[in-house]
Amino acid sequence: MRILTINAGSSSVKFSVFDTETDTQLFQSQFERVSSVEDAIRQIPDLLRAQNITALDAIGHRVAHGGTKLFRSERITADVIHEIETCVALAPLHNPSAITGINIAMKTWADLPQVAVFDTAFHRRIPDFASTYAVPQEWRDLGLRRYGFHGTSHHYIMRRVAEKLETPAKDLRIVSCHLGNGASICAIENGVSVDTSMGMTPLEGLVMGTRSGDIDPGAFAFLNRHLGLTVQEIEHKLYNQSGLAALSGLGNDMRDIEKAAEKGDKNAQLAINVYAYRVRKYIGAYAAAMGGVDVIAFTGGLGENSVLMRQRICERLEYLGVIFDDDKNTGINLKNFNVAAIHHENSRVRVFVTRTREDWMMAQEVRRVLAKNDKTALSQMNIPIAVSGHHVHLTQDSVETLFGKGYQLKVRNNLSQPGFWAAEETVDMSIPHGGMIKNMRILGPCRPANQIEITEPESYELGLHVPVRLSGDTADTPVVTLHGPAGSLSTNGLIVAKRHIHMNAKDAELHGLKQGDQVEVRLDNGERDLIFSDVIIRTDPHFVNEMHIDTDEANAAHIEHNGIGELIICTNTTAHICEKEDHENS
Ligand code: ADP
Repeated sequence: MRILTINAGSSSVKFSVFDTETDTQLFQSQFERVSSVEDAIRQIPDLLRAQNITALDAIGHRVAHGGTKLFRSERITADVIHEIETCVALAPLHNPSAITGINIAMKTWADLPQVAVFDTAFHRRIPDFASTYAVPQEWRDLGLRRYGFHGTSHHYIMRRVAEKLETPAKDLRIVSCHLGNGASICAIENGVSVDTSMGMTPLEGLVMGTRSGDIDPGAFAFLNRHLGLTVQEIEHKLYNQSGLAALSGLGNDMRDIEKAAEKGDKNAQLAINVYAYRVRKYIGAYAAAMGGVDVIAFTGGLGENSVLMRQRICERLEYLGVIFDDDKNTGINLKNFNVAAIHHENSRVRVFVTRTREDWMMAQEVRRVLAKNDKTALSQMNIPIAVSGHHVHLTQDSVETLFGKGYQLKVRNNLSQPGFWAAEETVDMSIPHGGMIKNMRILGPCRPANQIEITEPESYELGLHVPVRLSGDTADTPVVTLHGPAGSLSTNGLIVAKRHIHMNAKDAELHGLKQGDQVEVRLDNGERDLIFSDVIIRTDPHFVNEMHIDTDEANAAHIEHNGIGELIICTNTTAHICEKEDHENS
C-alpha cells in the first residue's frame, strides 16, 4: 500500500509517502511557516508527480485531539469530521488546521480512503485517578480531564524499545521522553500509557520551546489583577512567549541556549536547569506511578540531539537504578532508526535514545484501520472463539495398536477447520501412578506424532506437571498410557495447549500478522471480562479464522461453547521472538 501521511499544523504542513509492502519511505517534505494549509496541501499532488509518485492507496491525517469519543484511529467519514470539529472546543489551537487539511484532502483525493490518527489515542487507557482533575463535576462533564498528546510518538518509542530488548512491551515499565519544540513524557506500563505530562491541552507538563508547561492556575487571577490581562492574552503568552524562549531571552532553540550558557549567560543557564529539573521530576513521578522503571527513552529534536540535556536530566537518578554512561552519551549513532544505549552495562535501568517516526507510525495505523474495514477480510476486531475439552491426536500406527490392524477412524462430525474432524472413537488415558481420564475423543486426521491435550485442572488432578505447548511441540512431554479395545500403548505427547488463533494466511497478511506473532484477545462478556495474553498466531492458506481455548480458559471467560473476542495487536515486536521460539521448538 502507498500511504500519504499529512501532518497539518498551525504553521507547517509535513507530509510523507510510505510503501507499506516494502516498508520504505518514498518521499518526505514539508512547508514551513505556511499562511494557508489549504494552499500547501493543494501543491502536494504536483510535488509527488515530480517524484514519480502517481498512485496512492490511502491517506492518513494527524489530528491532535480526539476527545472522549475518538479514542482510536478512524476511517474518515462525515460523522468523524463532525466529531473532530466538536473537539475544537478542547483544542482550539490544534484541531482547526487538521480539519482544514482533511477537508482539502477529501476533495483532492476524493476516491481514496482516509484515516484520522489521534495524538490522544495512545493515552485512552490512562486510569481515571490519573486523568481526573479535582475540579467541579460540572466542568468535568464538559470534558475537562487529562487526555495527553504525542501518543503516536510514545507508542512508536514503546515498540522500538521492546524490539531492541527483544521483550514484549507488556513486560516493561518505560518512561518515554519526547523532547521537541513541544515536549511530553509518558509512563508506559504493560504496553499502555498509564500517565502523561500533557493534559487537557498540550500546555501542561514539561517546559517547552515557547510553552510554559506546569504553572499554578492561581497565576491567571494574579495576572489579571496586576497586569489587567484577559484570559485569552494569558493563554497566548503561555503558549507562545513562555518556556525556553521566555527563560533564556534567546528564542526557543536549545542549541543557541546551550552556546550562551557555556559563555556564562545566566538566563541561558537557568533555562537549562529549569528544563532538566522538570523532566527529571516527572521521571521520578512516573517511576513512582509504575512502582519502578526499566527503561528511560529519549526522542524529539532535543532528546535526540542534546548531549548536555540528556546528561543533566539523568543526573541523580542512581537511586532508581540508572548508571549513566557519559562516553556513550556523547557518541550516539541514530542512523537507520537505531536505538542507542547510553547506560553503563551494569545499569539496571536501560537508557536509550532513538529518532521518533510519527509519520511511519501513522502509515501503520492507516494500513491497520483499512485492513479492519476491508469487508473481504476478517474484521480485525472480532475473532470467533472455539472451546475444546480434552482430546487426543494419534498416528495411524497408534490407531492400529489401539483398535486393531488396518483400523480406520470413523468421522463423527467435521470441525470448523477444513479437513479436520472429531472421530466416533474415544480412548482412555492412564498415567504410571494411577490417575486416569476416560473417554477422550480422538480428533482426525491422523498425525505424524501422538498428542494428548488436557486442561490445567486435569493436570493438577493427575498430579503431573504438564507443559503448556503449541500443537506439534511434544518434545520432553510426560509419558501416558492410552487404552483402546484392541490394546494399549505408552506414548509421550501430553500437553496443555497454548492459546492460539488459526488465521487464514490472507487475513493474517492484511492485518500485518505472521506465523508466530503474539497478540491479545479481549472478551467483553459483561460480567467476567478478561484479556487473554500470549495468544499465538498460526497461519495457513486453508485456515478459517478462529481462536482455540480449552474449557478451563472458557470458564474463566464465561463462554459456554463459543464466543467472540476482540483481537488486540499490542506490538509486532514480539513477532520475531515467537518465530525464534517456534524455530527452537521445531
Ligand atoms: P517539533 O516538536 O517541532 O517537531 P523537534 O522535535 O524538531 O520539534 O525539535 C526541535 C528542537 O530540538 C529545536 O528547537 C531545538 O531546541 C532542539 N534541538 C535540535 N537539535 C539540537 C541540538 N543539536 N542540541 C540541542 N538542541 C537541539
